[in-house]
Amino acid sequence: MNRHTRDGHTDWCGKDHRCNLSEHRSEEIVLDVAGRSRAVLVRVRTAAGREHAEVRVRVALAPGEVAARRQLVGLLGDLRQAVTRAAIASRPQPRRAA
Ligand SMILES: [Zn+2]
Repeated sequence: MNRHTRDGHTDWCGKDHRCNLSEHRSEEIVLDVAGRSRAVLVRVRTAAGREHAEVRVRVALAPGEVAARRQLVGLLGDLRQAVTRAAIASRPQPRRAA
């Protein structure tokens, strides 16, 4: 997971202008849904060695203000669940007794 290539990058690093300021950044992984919504994920390793996923989400909103606000509330709830699940999965596992 934390392997580096001979040039000092991680094996998943994009190695171009995306990789700078002591961070390694992967190429963008794009999830496009029928041109109405889009998520872009980038894997990042900081200078301190901590790894993160950066996710940008773009969703077409309903034309009416009330419907758009309802949509935003639903989206925030969904994002909260996704971020919470990811945070739980990233916690260190307790050691097992030998
Ligand atoms: Zn790099």
